[in-house]
Amino acid sequence: MTAEQFHGAVLDWFDRHGRHDLPWQARKTAYHTWVSEIMLQQTQVATVIPYFERFIARFPDVHSLAQAPQDEVLHLWTGLGYYARARNLHKAARIVASDFGGDFPDSVEGLEALPGIGRSTAGAILSIATGKRAAILDGNVKRVLARFYAVEGWPGAPAVMKELWQHAERNTPRQRVGDYTQAMMDLGATLCTRSKPSCLLCPLHSRCEALAQGRTAELPAPRPKKTLPVRQTLMLLIRNGAGEVMLQQRPPSGLWGGLWSLPEAADLRDAEGETGLALDLESVRPLAPLRHTFSHFHLDITPVLIELRDAEAVMEGVPRLWYNIRRPPSIGLAAPVKRLLECLPD
Ligand code: SF4
Repeated sequence: MTAEQFHGAVLDWFDRHGRHDLPWQARKTAYHTWVSEIMLQQTQVATVIPYFERFIARFPDVHSLAQAPQDEVLHLWTGLGYYARARNLHKAARIVASDFGGDFPDSVEGLEALPGIGRSTAGAILSIATGKRAAILDGNVKRVLARFYAVEGWPGAPAVMKELWQHAERNTPRQRVGDYTQAMMDLGATLCTRSKPSCLLCPLHSRCEALAQGRTAELPAPRPKKTLPVRQTLMLLIRNGAGEVMLQQRPPSGLWGGLWSLPEAADLRDAEGETGLALDLESVRPLAPLRHTFSHFHLDITPVLIELRDAEAVMEGVPRLWYNIRRPPSIGLAAPVKRLLECLPD
């Protein structure tokens, strides 16, 4: 199949069956496209829609995002996960506002120099917002191309990635490039799905190698398995007389960077030393343990509820606050912390 036949078939399908009413399609500016693309990384469209709408309502342009406190940005991200995305979004907004007067760079290289923007996201922003010819290769497009050309190997491996980029570049049209970008993402998300792709409805099915070889279930090859290590932590839900729970802010970078979390300790004997508070250790109540999985390890959390002995506790050192569950402040919470606060017993 020539490149013209490939993108012609994809665009024809898009005109008839593609999604044209997603909230980020209403205004195809670089800012709107960028925010949606970052949110859509590792996250499904249906999950992203309400987050995108709230985010844009609060930060309608790059200047409002640049001026916002990081806490508020993380708050609007709470629940989406992969918080480095939100921190990078905020950093990049500040750079675009201060160094470029609010206009996004108009080249793949210029966009890639901003925090959190890789080659595929840069291609999506350029093609959708400016109509410049630029290829994308997000997770959905990787799957379509790996199957269509029966590319062997895990798409994250450099040699496989290189081959997929070559296919992506070659098939990208000069005209209607924004529609083509959207079409390829839609095709991967709605037809060429991870399991049970709807090949009979696919505009590429007559020439798809994976389909012809009966290998749609095995392509693309999965990431080579590695066993994730397990780390343990004791999380302290310290509650004061007003029923508020103590939170402390994580350092700006690293795991849950900038988010609010619970104090942690190696064991209960360390709890007072870690927090500098007088705790009523007789009152300790163990709560149901939970596991949170990061990309590179499992975190087994043992939560305990401890009442505070000293009502006038002074909190020094790391930034801390008392979290009122009935009137929660606008801050970004680590996902398991949010879960623990929501099911805290009386
Ligand atoms: S024919 Fe099936 S496997 Fe091939 S690209 Fe289309 S949906 Fe994917």
